Amino acid sequence: MKLTLVQGDITEQRVDAVVNAANSSLLGGGGVDGAIHRRGGPEILAECRKLRAGHYGRGLPTGQAVATTAGRLPARWVIHTVGPVHSASEDRSGLLASCYRESLRVADTLGACSVAFPAISTGIYGWPMDDAARIALETVRTAGARVDDVRFVLFDAAAYAVFEARL
Ligand code: ADP
Repeated sequence: MKLTLVQGDITEQRVDAVVNAANSSLLGGGGVDGAIHRRGGPEILAECRKLRAGHYGRGLPTGQAVATTAGRLPARWVIHTVGPVHSASEDRSGLLASCYRESLRVADTLGACSVAFPAISTGIYGWPMDDAARIALETVRTAGARVDDVRFVLFDAAAYAVFEARL
């Protein structure tokens, strides 16, 4: 598996699947979720609404992943996953690792070869970047996925530097 770090906007990545750090409602939020829905257009939200009306009536549980169309993004699919909110009193790293593993499992099911990940949970959900980078890189490296091109798309230079040091 080829692992690449990129500084930039995940909505501009030409890959088979873009991973979205969604919230469990699947109905949109801020951060990377807001950017994906803005750039991808209403088709993504329409599919998310269908998921809520069907199998995910109670929302997508933390640590799980589900795919929709990528709408107008230069990708084929968006894989939505719900990261855990960081907690100082409880170790939720297993749930954060699960986001990466489950997203890759869904990508394999779709037959995706290339996947772009944001730094899940490191924005509104407050996960420290260095620890998030350690979990992200370790999990993806050892997941045993068929996906052979994984790109971490870091929004700013600071996040990129943290991932680079960890890699
Ligand atoms: P969470 O709720 O999982 O913390 P956020 O979207 O708030 O999700 O943030 C996750 C990470 O994504 C943060 O490091 C944030 O800086 C970054 N981010 C925000 N917008 C984009 C974007 N367009 N492309 C890539 N990363 C982004």
